[in-house]
Amino acid sequence: MAEAGPKRVLIDNHLGPYGPHTLAQVDPAAQMAALAEIGTDSVLLQAKCHWGHAYYATAVGKRHPALDFDLIAAQTEAARGQGIVPALYYSVRWDEHAYREHADWRSHDADGDPQPGPHTRWRWLCLNSPYRDYTYAMLDELLANYDFSRLFLDIVHYRMLCYCEHCRAAWQEYFGEPLPEAPAPPAGTRSRTGRRWAARGPRRRFTVEQRARLFEFGNHVVDTYLAGVKERIQASGKGVSLVHNAFWPYTHDDILFGESDATGANFFQPAQQTYRLQALAKGRPVVIAFCWDRVMYAGVSESQLTFQAASALAAGADATLIWGAPDTRTGFFGAPVLNKVATTFEKIGPLAEERAKATAYADVGLLFSERQIALGNVPVEAGFSRDTAGAYKYLAEQHFPFRLVCDDVLEPEDLSGLRALIIAHPGDLRPESIGIVREFAEQGGRVLLTGANNLQRDLGIILADRKDHRGRRQDGWFVHAPEAWQIPDWELACSLGHWPLRNFPGFGELAYSLKPIVEPHGEVWDSHGTRWGTETGMPAVVYGRMGAGQIAYCNHEPFAEYLVRGARAFGRLALRILMFIGYAANLRVQGAPNVEAAYTKDGNVLKVFLVNCPVTRPLGQGSGRGPRAGAWVDVPEAVPLADVTIKSALTIESASAASGEAVHVRRQGKHTFVTLSRLSETDVVSMEIAE
Ligand SMILES: [Zn+2]
Repeated sequence: MAEAGPKRVLIDNHLGPYGPHTLAQVDPAAQMAALAEIGTDSVLLQAKCHWGHAYYATAVGKRHPALDFDLIAAQTEAARGQGIVPALYYSVRWDEHAYREHADWRSHDADGDPQPGPHTRWRWLCLNSPYRDYTYAMLDELLANYDFSRLFLDIVHYRMLCYCEHCRAAWQEYFGEPLPEAPAPPAGTRSRTGRRWAARGPRRRFTVEQRARLFEFGNHVVDTYLAGVKERIQASGKGVSLVHNAFWPYTHDDILFGESDATGANFFQPAQQTYRLQALAKGRPVVIAFCWDRVMYAGVSESQLTFQAASALAAGADATLIWGAPDTRTGFFGAPVLNKVATTFEKIGPLAEERAKATAYADVGLLFSERQIALGNVPVEAGFSRDTAGAYKYLAEQHFPFRLVCDDVLEPEDLSGLRALIIAHPGDLRPESIGIVREFAEQGGRVLLTGANNLQRDLGIILADRKDHRGRRQDGWFVHAPEAWQIPDWELACSLGHWPLRNFPGFGELAYSLKPIVEPHGEVWDSHGTRWGTETGMPAVVYGRMGAGQIAYCNHEPFAEYLVRGARAFGRLALRILMFIGYAANLRVQGAPNVEAAYTKDGNVLKVFLVNCPVTRPLGQGSGRGPRAGAWVDVPEAVPLADVTIKSALTIESASAASGEAVHVRRQGKHTFVTLSRLSETDVVSMEIAE
C-alpha cells in the first residue's frame, strides 16, 4: 500500500542565488493550508535543489542565501498540521553549488569537459567521488532532524561514462582492466544524422561489448549508491520510504516513480509509464508525475491535466504527482495553478477510489527490455525499442486487455493469467527469459515474435540479416544463443487463405512489402519486399507448436511500421497472426483509439475504466521533446463520444456506468456488446458476468 493517497503535488523550487525578491514572501503555513483546501494527500518539498541550495538548517551543505529560517521544518510541521503527508526531495547528481566548489567531484568526459556538454545549466557530479559522502551526510541530517514519510532522490542515474580518476579506479576494480579510452572525434565531426558527435558524447562510439559493460557499471554505481542511502534510512530507525528518479535498477526502491511527458506531447505516456513500472515493481507502489506547465510555462488545460492523472490511475498507478515551478517570490503556486490542480483532484477522486479496490485484468502481455534500450542497439521511440513502442500503441489504441512484462526481471508468475505474449523485438533477451517464455508456450501460451532476431542459425534458414539499425552486423557477446528457443516442428505459413492482405484498402506499399502470395518452392514461401516471383528464401511467417502452445515468428516489423507510418493494416497483420495461432481478446473496447481503456476483474464483476483524451495521440512522434509540427491539436476539452461499445466473448448479464449514463447490453452470436451511450471525460462501466 502507498503511504499516502493518490493526490500529490511537488513544489518544484529550483531557485538560483539571484534576485533580491527571491522567497521574499514565503509563507509555509499559508502554502499548506492552500494545499489542504484543494484535497492534497501528500506534498513533496525541496530539501535541496539542482542549484545545490538547501532549504533547511544544514551544517554540511549551503543554505539558500535568501532563507533566514528553516523552511523544511516549517513546511513539514504545517503539512502534518493540515493532514498532508510530507515527503522530501533531494537533487543528487545536479548540485551546482558543489560543482563550483569542488573540481574533484565533477563528472567529465574523456576531454575533461562537463557532461553532456559545457553549456548545461546544472552540471553533473560524480557518484564515485567524495561527493557521494557529501550527499550521505546531508541525508543523515534530514533523517535525524525532520518528520517526513518519503525520501525522493532526483537525478540518480549513470548512463554517461565519467572519466574522472575515481571512475577510472572504480572501473579497474570492478572489471579488472582499465576504462576504455574513447577520445572525442575532431571538432566539427558530424554524425550521419548531422548532429555533432560532441553533443552526444563518446558513448555512441563504443563497441557493443563496451556499451554492455557501461550499462553494467552504471547499474552497479546506482545500486551501491542507493544501497548506502537505504542503510542510512534503516540506521535512522524511521519508517521513511525510498524512491529515486530515474531508470533501472530499482533494487532498493520502496516506491517506483516515473515521469510522464512534461511537455504534453505524448498522451500515451501516463498509462505507458504506469504499466512499465508495474512490470518492474513486482507489487511495490507506482507513482506517476507530470507537469501543469508546459515548456515556457504556458499552462496545460484542465482537461489535459485530468487526462494525464486519470489515465495513470486507471492503469493502476497508486498516485499521481503534479509538479510545476512556483512563483519565485512566494516559493509557491499562484491561484490559477491551484484552481487547475483542484479541478483535476476533484475529477480523479472517484475514479482513483474505485480503481484502488479493483484487480487488473489482462490476457495478453507485451515484453520490453530496459537493457535493449541502454545498449543503444535498437532504434528507440517513447522509451521502448521502436517495435515495442509500436506494439504498445497498437494494444493501447485497439484496447486489448494487456499488461507489460520486463525481460530484465522476468519471472514465470509475471505471465500467469496471460493467454498470449508479444515479443516485438526478440533480440538480446536473457536466456532465463527465453526459458520462461518456452515454458509459457508449452503450457498452452501463444507467443508472437516479430522483427529481426537471432533464430536463423537455429533454424538453418535466413530469416533476417542480423544487422543493427545503422546497418552493421551484429555479433556482440550479449546476443544469446538462438538454440535456447528450441522450437520444434517449424512450419512455414503464409497464405491468402489466412491473411487476405491484398484486400486491405489503400496500402499498395504494404502489399509490396508483405506480398504473401507467393510461389511455394520447397518448404519456403517467398515474400518481403521482393518482386513477384523473386526467390529469396525468406519466409513471411513461420510458426511452430510447442507443447500445448504455439509460437509464430514474423520476420517483418509490423509494429514498427504501424508506429512510424500510422498504417493500421500493419497492426491488423499482427492481429491476424495472433488469431492464427489461437489468440483473440475476449474483451475489447471497439474503436475510439483516443480513449484509454483499462480493465479489472474481481469475482464475476468486470470493470472498464475509460478516459477520454482531449488531443490526438501520436506516440513516438517527438515524445518528450515537444511535438512535431502539426502532430497534435490542443483543445480545452475532451470531445464527448457517443456509443462507446465494449465487445466481450464472456456473457454479460447486466451493466451500468458510474456516471449514471445509459448502458445497453446486447447479445449477438457468441459475443455480448455493452454500449455506454455517452463518454465525457472519464467513466467506469461495471459488468456482471454470467456464471
Ligand atoms: Zn567519475
